[in-house]
Amino acid sequence: MRRTLAALLISCLAACNQSPATAPAATPQPTGPAENEIQEAPLKAHLQALSADDMGGRAPSTPGGQKAADYLATQLKTLGVEPGGDNGSYFQEVPIVESVVDRSFTLSVPGNSYRYFDDVVAFSGTEQPRVHVQGDVVFVGHGIVAPEQNWNDYQGADVKGKWVLVMVNDPPAPADEPTLFAGQALTYYGRWTYKFEEAARQGAAGAILIHTDDSATYPWQVVQSSWTGTQYSLPPAAGAPALGVKAWMKNDAAVDFVKRGGQNLDQLRASAVKRGFKPVPLKLRAAATLQQRTSRKTSPNVIGVVRGTNERQAVIFTSHYDHFGTREAQPGDKPDTDRIFNGAYDNASGISGLLMIAQSMAKAPAKPGRSMYFVFTTAEESGLLGAEYFAQHPVIPMDQVAANINVDGLNYLGPTRDIVLLGADRSSLGPMAKTLAQERGRTLGADQHPERGYFFRSDHFPLAKAGVPALSISEPREFTGPNAAELAKKQEAYNATDYHQPSDEFDPTWNFAGGVEDLKFLAQLAWRVAAQPAMPEYNAGDQFANARKGS
Ligand SMILES: [Zn+2]
Repeated sequence: MRRTLAALLISCLAACNQSPATAPAATPQPTGPAENEIQEAPLKAHLQALSADDMGGRAPSTPGGQKAADYLATQLKTLGVEPGGDNGSYFQEVPIVESVVDRSFTLSVPGNSYRYFDDVVAFSGTEQPRVHVQGDVVFVGHGIVAPEQNWNDYQGADVKGKWVLVMVNDPPAPADEPTLFAGQALTYYGRWTYKFEEAARQGAAGAILIHTDDSATYPWQVVQSSWTGTQYSLPPAAGAPALGVKAWMKNDAAVDFVKRGGQNLDQLRASAVKRGFKPVPLKLRAAATLQQRTSRKTSPNVIGVVRGTNERQAVIFTSHYDHFGTREAQPGDKPDTDRIFNGAYDNASGISGLLMIAQSMAKAPAKPGRSMYFVFTTAEESGLLGAEYFAQHPVIPMDQVAANINVDGLNYLGPTRDIVLLGADRSSLGPMAKTLAQERGRTLGADQHPERGYFFRSDHFPLAKAGVPALSISEPREFTGPNAAELAKKQEAYNATDYHQPSDEFDPTWNFAGGVEDLKFLAQLAWRVAAQPAMPEYNAGDQFANARKGS
């Protein structure tokens, strides 16, 4: 694919000899991104700089985080990529609410009160220092409204100003309808975030999710550690519904809670796995008081754009630059204990890769069709906040975005046959990717663990939820070459020992032969998506197929 200087000169001379008046009807030149700009050496240089100790782990609203954002903006400028952020800058400032719920939280019903931390944990969807929710309780099964599945757990119920009690995960698929809620795979309806969003849309004042190890796929201790201590969120959008109290309740406590409301939890659960379930009001009033300390911070998304011939529409690349920062010293630390979360793989590798793709677009011999946006998001590790804010405040209308391609982690182990793109099975982007893979002697790999819901856990997801067909590159499975088995083991070892640890550090021996091929693949795929006349679409029946029509 490398073009020689002579070849470029010849094509220029040929073009210059054609006078516009006599030129035959335009013979389309095969254009594309300048793939030969995507090289291992500059990629590694970016990666080393972005994961260095002086970036301090790139946490939002820290000097290290800002340093990383400035680095990205400077690189975009150097490449000739235009600013795509606020007021002609490369930055879109994201407001972040930091909150800590006081352990004095109480949830009580006549005859009992549930212990914070042991029985229940809670946080708020508002920024009020003191929140009080009192009201009737309605059991709403899985708390799902899914018209395309002909499923409505809120049917006929008025939950305005009340509590809803909700099961997590999807309803199971029965034998005679094996594809209900995608069978074994987790759909977004099964995620706890969806449960709270739907409860807020229904006008509830508070929502309580029932925790079981099975349905949550993790033990109560994970709920305790995740939902106590400092929480990060976006401020609620003006006029948007927000829950006063969002709570998780341990199963034993929920059994008692329901019993006091005159019902049996096992029976309620059994009734909720069938279509046609109706919400069950409990004979119970519950009251909660939550006190919290909140403060606001900001941290920027970094945005650049390579304008296309069609500037009204876009393909958007996303990749998060934030990571966990530097942790406080703890008793038992040695003076040389490493406390910096360098996040080399997660996700200095991804943003370095995105800089290379941006370079390949900026140096392309022609403009792309639709414009190419490069969005380096902040606060992904705090709950996809930068991407969520971008989806709520897009720099180009979401219904004019042809596709989103997300890079969270780039293969540093060696060449592979497969390229794994989460979301490929959901939209018309999948067949396009498959064709490209075939052309390149590669295969399109599938999500190995659809039951874990990885599609809902990185920055493409807020865009997918807004109806944008999205792909996110994931770990490959098919390493090639003589040491393929060893590379697969190395990949597992990283996940076991280095993932989200200070030891996720740059290693000069990393091999980006595979990563570079993946970046070229994504650049070419984006180019084709930008060039084709039709906008890509979600498959009929997909959860996100109607998001654009509905909004
Ligand atoms: Zn990541």
